Amino acid sequence: MNQQIYINGEYFSKDEAKISVYDHGLLYGDGIFEGMRIYSGKVFRLHEHLLRLWESATAISLQIPIGIDDLTNDVNEAVKRNGLEEGYIRLIVTRGSGALGLDPFQCANPQIIIIVDKITLYPKALYENGLELVTASTIRNHPAALSPRIKSLNYLNNVLAKMEGLKAGCKEALMLNHQGQVAECTGDNVFIVKAGQLITPPKEAGILEGITRNAVIDLAKEAEIETIESPLTRHDLFVADECFLTGSAAEVIPVVTLDGRTIGTGSPGPITKQLNDAFRDLVRQ
Ligand code: PMP
Repeated sequence: MNQQIYINGEYFSKDEAKISVYDHGLLYGDGIFEGMRIYSGKVFRLHEHLLRLWESATAISLQIPIGIDDLTNDVNEAVKRNGLEEGYIRLIVTRGSGALGLDPFQCANPQIIIIVDKITLYPKALYENGLELVTASTIRNHPAALSPRIKSLNYLNNVLAKMEGLKAGCKEALMLNHQGQVAECTGDNVFIVKAGQLITPPKEAGILEGITRNAVIDLAKEAEIETIESPLTRHDLFVADECFLTGSAAEVIPVVTLDGRTIGTGSPGPITKQLNDAFRDLVRQ
């Protein structure tokens, strides 16, 4: 693949795509991003991703230097140029370069970067057999410190939890919020199935409102499976019939254990499979 990376309207090879070491995106994690999927050459829910990008920008008082229609065209053009029918897009907007101090208002040139690449987040076998999770001791960012609803370049909170998961032999880790409730995983939203109902933590639990999460809630509605957004504890996961995660990179992936304890039958459950099939149909449309 002859990768072409977009920076502010221009295209560069992977080796030549560079930004300043004075960019506050690098110095302070001051910036925002989106991760999106390409299915059959088309970006899945591009508009929803861009609306969330604009919300993240507003939340950190970052003025994205081009309009949403232009960025829509640029993302589609970047996909075309890279010629990938199936793939992943990392869209980044940094604060831009400034002085060696926090002041974001001295940064004049936000950088818009679009990387189109392939992604395999988890091995294929885990989609069939299910994922094992551990609960991280690192809690999700307190919403009053850094709202998880902002998809910011400051992902250390998630990185530290991911590290705990990996060290425990798990590819993903469950993160609780400051109240001890289930928030989400390091890069995915969490769902359980209990007595035929789908339950997922509400936005107020301190989560990123995932685009895939919302797509799955829509699919459940179409299938007449009731979804409730309600606070969950680890206990609810331990006694759930089924559990699965959603994310642009992860898609829909079953979870079969938490902290070494089997969830449900220990195999991906029927509602997880049904929703996963519906998701596959949706993205193939
Ligand atoms: N939570 C977090 C912390 C994430 O980083 C992501 C995206 N990787 C998600 C949830 C899932 O969001 P989406 O479905 O929009 O990719």
